[in-house]
Amino acid sequence: MHSLPLLLALLAGGPAPAADDPAFSACLSRLRAQSAGEGVPAAAFDRFTRDLAPDPSVLELLDAQPEFTTPIWDYLAALVDERRVRQGRQMLAQHDELLARVEAAYGVDRHTVVAVWGVESDYGQQFGTRPLLSSLATLSCEGRRQAFFRGELLALLKLLHAGDLAPEGLRGSWAGAFGHTQFMPSTYARIAVDFDGDGRRDLVASIPDALASTANYLHRAGWRRGERWGWEVRIPASLDLSSSRTLDDWRARGVRRIDGAALPPGQGRAALLAPAGRNGPVWLVAANYRAIRSYNAADSYALAIALLADRLRDDAPPRTAWPTDDPGIDRDARQRLQRLLLARGHDIGEADGLIGTRTRRAIVLEQLRLGMRPADGRAGKKILEALEREAR
Ligand code: CA
Repeated sequence: MHSLPLLLALLAGGPAPAADDPAFSACLSRLRAQSAGEGVPAAAFDRFTRDLAPDPSVLELLDAQPEFTTPIWDYLAALVDERRVRQGRQMLAQHDELLARVEAAYGVDRHTVVAVWGVESDYGQQFGTRPLLSSLATLSCEGRRQAFFRGELLALLKLLHAGDLAPEGLRGSWAGAFGHTQFMPSTYARIAVDFDGDGRRDLVASIPDALASTANYLHRAGWRRGERWGWEVRIPASLDLSSSRTLDDWRARGVRRIDGAALPPGQGRAALLAPAGRNGPVWLVAANYRAIRSYNAADSYALAIALLADRLRDDAPPRTAWPTDDPGIDRDARQRLQRLLLARGHDIGEADGLIGTRTRRAIVLEQLRLGMRPADGRAGKKILEALEREAR
């Protein structure tokens, strides 16, 4: 089935985009030859790339420097919010039997698998909005990481040619991560498994394939069955935060669990993680945290998965507050904030709960108007409460 916009485009003479851009056309021809040498025949290459047009907006994103910085508590407020906890618990109930089989096959607990799913794609609700082939083809032909993206494009074409995935409507992040688990194509090629037994590894259309592939990723990254990712701890004031030691060593140096209980005995290595320094929460993190972090090498991200998994297994949330008098706000509150900004006439698009550049610029203007300092564009509790008070 053609979508309506595509039909209109066809009626209007059909897209002939690559031909309009000689450099892009020439680049595609070179990729076509390269792909043929690596198992994607020219006819298949043509079928998958026929209507591609370059998308210059991904090049802007490739080179974008962050205009605003985001403190870790803002990431966590949005990624580990009550809505995601509630929906995660629904997913645990709904996919109980599948998750039991995934646990048995890969040794990764269901709470972590579902937490990755929740953070990566909001349980399959957010696959990304950009046409995947266009993004990867553009980044393969222009910009400063062409060799990397050519590898990703080729990996994707191989998956399509093998019939793992349907090419129609394939969307992802601007940089090429896609599906329930937001794998890059090369990771997909290496890690994805067919868990529903239909002979295809489909991380877009099959939840069993997606959840088993997530567990396989963590398993291959060194996951240890039955172990915790880490513990919130209290530490002696003089302790050096920077080293990696065995749990027995840390215990001997006076590190205790936050509730005062002793750490479990063990020779496994663990490191202290203090994303906001000694005045914020401190965790001792072990092998399974490192496995989660290898999925996406940022502590804000890994901690979101770890803490969401804790909430899903009914463990207590962190006891120590983040060192700020202006806490982060969850997605529902972000939408309320955006509706207040819209009501004040700011052109920020839809109130979707995603804090982008336009929302931040509008917040800067409101912070300046209200005399709030710093006027940093942060979507936090203070600006939300100030606008709510005014609107009453
Ligand atoms: Ca399958």
